[in-house]
Amino acid sequence: MSSIPEHCPGTQSESAGKETACRGCPNQAICASGAAKGPDPGIILVQQRLSSVKHIILVLSGKGGVGKSTFSSLLARGLSSDLDKNVGILDIDICGPSVPRIMGVLGEQVHQSGSGWSPVYVEENLAVMSIGFLLGSPDDAVIWRGPKKNGLIKQFLSEVDWGNLDYLVIDTPPGTSDEHLSATQYLLGGSGSKNKTIAAVVVTTPQEVALLDVRKELDFCKKVNLPVIGVVENMSGFICPKCKVQSDIFPPSEFNGGAEGMAKEYGIQFLGRLPLDPRLGKSCDSGEHFLAELPESPAAKSFAQILQGITSSLDSKMEVD
Ligand code: ADP
Repeated sequence: MSSIPEHCPGTQSESAGKETACRGCPNQAICASGAAKGPDPGIILVQQRLSSVKHIILVLSGKGGVGKSTFSSLLARGLSSDLDKNVGILDIDICGPSVPRIMGVLGEQVHQSGSGWSPVYVEENLAVMSIGFLLGSPDDAVIWRGPKKNGLIKQFLSEVDWGNLDYLVIDTPPGTSDEHLSATQYLLGGSGSKNKTIAAVVVTTPQEVALLDVRKELDFCKKVNLPVIGVVENMSGFICPKCKVQSDIFPPSEFNGGAEGMAKEYGIQFLGRLPLDPRLGKSCDSGEHFLAELPESPAAKSFAQILQGITSSLDSKMEVD
């Protein structure tokens, strides 16, 4: 998958598409032509469509396999446990959409009407939209180039008929790719974004290799002015469901203090740890509602604290704005 250059000058810069860093970027030609500089009409469409969404939470991870989709789905389920709140989850992990499976709606069809694409409802107050509903085969999108992905992200953000939402959780691909750049441009561009909170939660595992990639993710957020609510450490210790003894399967490296140390270094909130629990993995694989089924499990209890941290942080951001 192509990714944005590390030293991207930005689409609005005079040197957009002309710097050494731009070489090899799929958007180089369009940036160099200046076409990327004018206001993209897609931004206005996205802002209009999402004008009745209060909070948008982008879930990011530096690497694949750290539990980002698992966390996104738990977050959507957890937020929707308040029946007064309407929640949507949008899966823009184009090359590996796993949200339909985790939410138990694999193979569902989305319908198009005059008011846009209707998402699939898991509960009355919980709607799901994923590229997985549109692809013939999950392998279809792997060969797509940047502009096609960009077009799809724009469609996803501007054409889904969510209605009024309190929270929209967006599950993104791992790393910093075209999809992230497109999504943040459409979401953060224009004045419509000023009436809502748009922020990221970053998911990692405790190992140094995962943390190294999270740093890139945090640098990306800074570059595109995307506020970060905080960092979650997933697969953090294993509590045996039978004997309740805890073992650190991926111990954080001693010199950096794991995700908590990294969050401190970046001055962002450490939201908490989610332990490895085979029942969580199994529940997600079969599309079940882990939080409702095992509410007393250590993973569900840890998640409840993380959720609390996220909602209060969003509420206070809303007050400040
Ligand atoms: P990503 O979206 O980062 O690629 P996934 O959410 O698909 O990762 O998770 C990768 C695998 O790890 C899945 O099989 C998932 O069920 C499992 N998994 C994620 N978090 C946990 C956890 N805390 N305990 C047990 N299994 C987990």
